[in-house]
Amino acid sequence: MTATADLQARFDAALMPNYGTPPIALVRGEGRRVWDADGRSYLDLVAGIAVSALGHGHPALTAAVADQAAALAHTSNLYLHPREVELAERLIGLLGAEPGGDARVFFANSGTEANEAALKIVKRAAGPGRGRIVSTANAFHGRTSGALAVTGKAAIREPFGPFGMDVVFVPYGDADALRAAVDTTCTAVFVEPVQGEAGIVTAPDGYLREVRAACDAAGAAFVLDEIQSGIGRTGHWFAHQAAGVRPDVLTLAKGLGGGLPIGAAVGFGRYATALAKGDHGSTFGGNPVACAAALAVLDTIETQGLLANAADLGALLADGITAAGHPLVAGVRGTGLWRGVVLTAPAAGAVQTAAAAHGFLVNAVAPDVIRLAPPLTITRDEIQAFTAALPAILDDTDRETP
Ligand SMILES: *Cc1c(COP(=O)(O)O)cnc(C)c1O
Repeated sequence: MTATADLQARFDAALMPNYGTPPIALVRGEGRRVWDADGRSYLDLVAGIAVSALGHGHPALTAAVADQAAALAHTSNLYLHPREVELAERLIGLLGAEPGGDARVFFANSGTEANEAALKIVKRAAGPGRGRIVSTANAFHGRTSGALAVTGKAAIREPFGPFGMDVVFVPYGDADALRAAVDTTCTAVFVEPVQGEAGIVTAPDGYLREVRAACDAAGAAFVLDEIQSGIGRTGHWFAHQAAGVRPDVLTLAKGLGGGLPIGAAVGFGRYATALAKGDHGSTFGGNPVACAAALAVLDTIETQGLLANAADLGALLADGITAAGHPLVAGVRGTGLWRGVVLTAPAAGAVQTAAAAHGFLVNAVAPDVIRLAPPLTITRDEIQAFTAALPAILDDTDRETP
């Protein structure tokens, strides 16, 4: 029995079946490379679902985590600690605001918790007669009940309802449908700049500005979920900055901690201060170790020029895939180091398996879409190694797909 098979059998015997049995058991990582329990190595083009922004074992993140864990690992929210203050100030600055201005941050531990905070913020701020939340078909906002209620993917939402919330789903990217749904009974609109879990689905240019305008016209809150798109993934700190709009509430997680669990909800204007003392909280939220990790992530993105790297190498990646001209590839979607390779057949699972056999981690995010979200530290040589191997990976997939 291989070490992987042994771990899989023990996994099945001890963990709930909600993830199925993962095909690979990872034990170690360095840079963009990870190793499995049987010593095979892979170039990581998934980054733990757009999380490991600095790759694996990055010295800045490792030192920040080790130093903070040794100094003070936990405070609870009964006490403040400097790292949460520094991180909130830093995020506010990256969002073009200033501490003391009209933006404030709440720290949580995950994406779904960031969206739960956003829900409470907009409910607190909503005037009388409101209650409806507008979201988009196929959206993904998280797995806890509030975030799940606004998640458009029916297959993962419906078994767990009802949620006691009035939620309307409109087609993603359709500004007319959105305008029609957002009226003065609407509390908030939840939307992603690009739908990540739906398969890196992009909206038409100007869509976020249309969302902003519809919310302004109806007096509804614009909640922008940048949990996957934020923190440099698209080549901008935040995807909405390229669209030239500002939301009322911005949610973040995934890449923010570079692998440590942290989420954030940033409120602007009256949404910055809607939660009064006692309205919300989290024992672990804004944990010093997670905040230290996030500060290391933001510093490294800035000092290493990783926004430009994401833009440049993301273009190289997309061009390399297109240039391969393989009949299984219909096209490439997305921006920066966040790409969906659209296949001409529902063969994404087989491509993922074939890629692993060739030493590359990719993610079958939809039956016909492969997601690529490598660390922002990825190099030109690593991108080229993947695009060079891709035709052989896809040829193998063709052979295996019945
Ligand atoms: C991953 C994700 C979430 C949920 O984040 P968790 O940390 O898994 O709870 C919410 N929204 C979007 C857009 C995501 O990509």
